[in-house]
Amino acid sequence: MAAPGKVAAFRLPPLPTIGEIIKLFRLKALKQLSQNFLLDLRLTDKIVKQAGELKNAHVCEVGPGPGGITRSILSAGVEQLLLIEKDARFIPGLQILSEAAPGKVRIVHGDILTYKMEKAFPKHLKKNWEDEPPDIHIIGNLPFSVSTPLIIKWLENVSKRDGPFIYGRTQMTLTFQKEVGERLTANPGSNQRSRLSIMAQHLCTVENCFTIPGQAFVPKPEVDVAVVHFTPLVQPKIQQPFELVEKVVQSVFQFRRKYCFRGIETLFPENGRLKRTEQLMMTADVDPTLRPFQLSMSQFRNLCNVYRKMCDEDPSLFVFNYRDELRQKKKTRSLLGSTGQPEQT
Ligand code: SAM
Repeated sequence: MAAPGKVAAFRLPPLPTIGEIIKLFRLKALKQLSQNFLLDLRLTDKIVKQAGELKNAHVCEVGPGPGGITRSILSAGVEQLLLIEKDARFIPGLQILSEAAPGKVRIVHGDILTYKMEKAFPKHLKKNWEDEPPDIHIIGNLPFSVSTPLIIKWLENVSKRDGPFIYGRTQMTLTFQKEVGERLTANPGSNQRSRLSIMAQHLCTVENCFTIPGQAFVPKPEVDVAVVHFTPLVQPKIQQPFELVEKVVQSVFQFRRKYCFRGIETLFPENGRLKRTEQLMMTADVDPTLRPFQLSMSQFRNLCNVYRKMCDEDPSLFVFNYRDELRQKKKTRSLLGSTGQPEQT
């Protein structure tokens, strides 16, 4: 669990309220960009507390918008705050905050999906992977259409120890649609157990901290929001390359409601599919009649380890793509026509 940090370690000078900033700069939320703002500073303080102790920390806030969470981060007494905001309309309001905390804030007008985090922080903050996490935190309330692809990208970065994790086990506190938060933390047997549960939990300690009701945002989104905290694990629970784990997990969850062997079959070409599926499941000691959501992390680990061995023995296996095979079969069938014979032209 993230140690609750102290907020209000630094006092900002009197500033216009977030509501006044929104009015002053005419920052109408753009529905097409899923912009929903938090104006209640008690709530933004509560989110920032989940990150842990931020006094003298280096923080990157993604999507600061009108700056509610930004104020809470500054009040926590951070050393440096990097703001990455895609929408240029917010930059003047953020500059007011930057002037209120001289020398602490760096504003980048850019897209977090392409921003290179490798050079975002000073080199001296780097820690060995096995050490305590570095004094670097990522915090953000992003649109859901950005936060889900972003966490997948960052999980891959955790696995490869690059991007923001070049500095060590950088912690993240991010918001998601409530159901996505539940998927990220779901245990075996839970209805919400999914690809995201395995991908996140094999690489990080994931904590679903609390839920913010939709009505706390302006304008109110259709859904409630989960605040989720991630700390990368020293030892991933599955010690295989990200792409391999992703392939196995994606295949298993392909047929959510069916027995798990149905999805696992799709890892293998038609020729020898049954035999290889049996071999994988037996060696990994996984009951083929379990449903995907019932599999434990250690069962996923066994499946990945055995699949890895099979790929090492037959390297054509890893590049095999079930969907391509289906497409190819469909094409052949339409070329042959319904008779199974080539059509006469
Ligand atoms: N953090 C503010 C708050 O809690 O009130 C704003 C939240 S609003 C849901 C999301 C913010 O992320 C907006 O300011 C939006 O412009 C910004 N944003 C959206 N996509 C982004 C991206 N790819 N990179 C950086 N910022 C982005």
